[in-house]
Amino acid sequence: MKLPYAEPFRIKMVEKIRQSTKEERTKWIKDADFNLFNLSSSKVFIDLLTDSGTGAMSDEQWAALMKGDESYAGSRSFEELFETVKKITGFRYLLPTHQGRAAENVLFSVLVKDGNIIPGNSHFDTTKGHIEFRKAHAADCTIDEAFDTEINHPFKGNIDLRKLEKIYQNHPKEQIPFCLITITCNTSGGQPVSLENIKAVKELSDKYGIPIIFDGARFAENAYFIKQRESGQEHRTIKEICREIFACGIGMTMSSKKDGLVNIGGFIALNDEQIFRVASNFTIIYEGFITYGGMSGRDMAALAVGLDEATEFEYLESRISQVEYLGNQLINYNIPLQKPIGGHAVFIDALKFLPNVPREDFPAQTLGIELYKEAGIRAVEIGTLLADRDPETRENRYPKLEFLRLAIPRRTYTNNHMDYIATALKNVFDRRNEITKGYSIVWESEILRHFTVKLKEV
Ligand SMILES: *Cc1c(COP(=O)(O)O)cnc(C)c1O
Repeated sequence: MKLPYAEPFRIKMVEKIRQSTKEERTKWIKDADFNLFNLSSSKVFIDLLTDSGTGAMSDEQWAALMKGDESYAGSRSFEELFETVKKITGFRYLLPTHQGRAAENVLFSVLVKDGNIIPGNSHFDTTKGHIEFRKAHAADCTIDEAFDTEINHPFKGNIDLRKLEKIYQNHPKEQIPFCLITITCNTSGGQPVSLENIKAVKELSDKYGIPIIFDGARFAENAYFIKQRESGQEHRTIKEICREIFACGIGMTMSSKKDGLVNIGGFIALNDEQIFRVASNFTIIYEGFITYGGMSGRDMAALAVGLDEATEFEYLESRISQVEYLGNQLINYNIPLQKPIGGHAVFIDALKFLPNVPREDFPAQTLGIELYKEAGIRAVEIGTLLADRDPETRENRYPKLEFLRLAIPRRTYTNNHMDYIATALKNVFDRRNEITKGYSIVWESEILRHFTVKLKEV
């Protein structure tokens, strides 16, 4: 008999999590103004709010942590991180930051000006926030296939070259500081970008003199999908593929809380000395000296090891096959979701799941609240709440897709937890026709409202 798949690790330390009753949860979520971000983690049994900084570190990372060098300038841990980033990305300059959005803040302070246009593939929410905060515009050039959850396209993060070229043709070069490729594309469902597409975007952008910057939060997962799905790539190592991806850009921002396999951190890596010089000044103002940028020495040491582990095939296989394991169970229950299943999360299509809940009642948020009440599972809305209002008209922006995202923390839960999640969702799905009303906003902030919004039942 063929041996089944088993994880390439065993567990050295465990953390207790607590079950609760439906009555308790119904009260708790009301007290939290129906915002899952307001719940304390002790009121959550399985936490799928995010895969950001929520994973488990390896024994090697914990060992590196103990050897961290806390020198203010020129720390040995910075050198280790710098060497690893150079090896994996090929970029020659490194600026650590305290997390991914801080890297965006520093880099965009150099590159993004009032009235600029930043084309890309479904910019991440903080990225879009940093662009719009500077009165610039994020233009989404993702391929149309990404917006139909039933189409099984292997690279739904791809950029539509015609949409991109239209932007290049309609605006002067000075107005477009760079094209931003997000790998993998979170907003459209953890969907990868093919190497072929990255190269084609580079070729087109070269023609118009526009450089490419990567948002690399999940670059290793993207490289895994390239190896698995793109013909001619199957025999290459993950690290070889990463080098080829990054060779198409002049730099990247990174949230180390994702494929860095650490709990906090970020960085900017660059090839352009001029940008590096100016970005160094902003790093010092906003983050800290350029060899730590808001990170402790031990965190940089653990990140150096984490980046190496995240770009190994065995790790990525166990990571992504667990997400697939959950997604395939949901598919068997006929639960509508983004196909193919993404790298870090399963994205439930809330418009199809809860067709009786009106769009202005926030169907994905409604589903998230139902799932929490059902089983103590915390997921997150990727829909109208997240999309914020249009900065000019102040109208709600209704994105094409309304998702409930189940993000799976790295190396944290077992497949028994995945079975529990699948059953809980099936129970909600079985009573979906009884759910006809959602929620309305009581209070919201100007930007990034989903973190703090207060809701009430309609
Ligand atoms: C998480 C993330 C960011 C922001 O990083 P933080 O570490 O959360 O500040 C930016 N882009 C993408 C694609 C992300 O997933």
